[in-house]
Amino acid sequence: MIAIDGPSGSGKSTTAREVARRLGLSYLDTGAMYRAVAVAFLDAGVSPDDTDAVIAATTGADIDISLDPDEPWVRVNGRDVTAEIREPRTARHVSAVATIPECRADLVRRQRTLMDADPRGCVAEGRDITTVVYPDADLRLLLTATPEARLRRRAGDLGDKVTEEQLRDQVLRRDRDDSKLVDFQIAADGVRLLDTSDMTLPEVVDAITTLAEEALS
Ligand code: C5P
Repeated sequence: MIAIDGPSGSGKSTTAREVARRLGLSYLDTGAMYRAVAVAFLDAGVSPDDTDAVIAATTGADIDISLDPDEPWVRVNGRDVTAEIREPRTARHVSAVATIPECRADLVRRQRTLMDADPRGCVAEGRDITTVVYPDADLRLLLTATPEARLRRRAGDLGDKVTEEQLRDQVLRRDRDDSKLVDFQIAADGVRLLDTSDMTLPEVVDAITTLAEEALS
């Protein structure tokens, strides 16, 4: 098992997916699950301030997610939301799910089951994989990068679909809210820290593939 945590724009998604591909492991994007639940509660007309209703929408959500690094998709309550989870509206509301302990506990349970599903093993990425979801992973990594580097990468991912304000909301405000319950800026004991600010994504992928191969051998 390979566990990778980090803030938005640290390069963890691209890296985790590519490492899974190279090593023939399954790939779990745990952020996509939080995002899918955000879509579900918005669909249901639930207010983000109504904690009990957000918990009910989370625990009752039927989430189906691809573990194939070459074919990512996610469905919630029977609806394909692969594109919708990346929209600014979802990013704006996802912290409402992530900051409720009951919602986290429910998703963490599901994530462990998904990681264990593939006998070849899994590369999972998120904010709390190294500390909560799978602290026994063979390799535990925290990717960091300066706010400038993260904004730059996110701008590259999102292109001209978002305004400067939406970009800052998606990176800086979200990290601030997400840090309320989970510390993903400081490496816990036994977690390896990699600052990717001055690295290109191909360099990050190569470095982590090597570490993963060593850890799994
Ligand atoms: O990684 P991504 O940006 O897609 O994550 C979306 C959101 O899901 C984060 O902003 C955070 O609120 C939440 N999240 C989390 N714990 C994880 C993964 C994601 O709280 N393990």
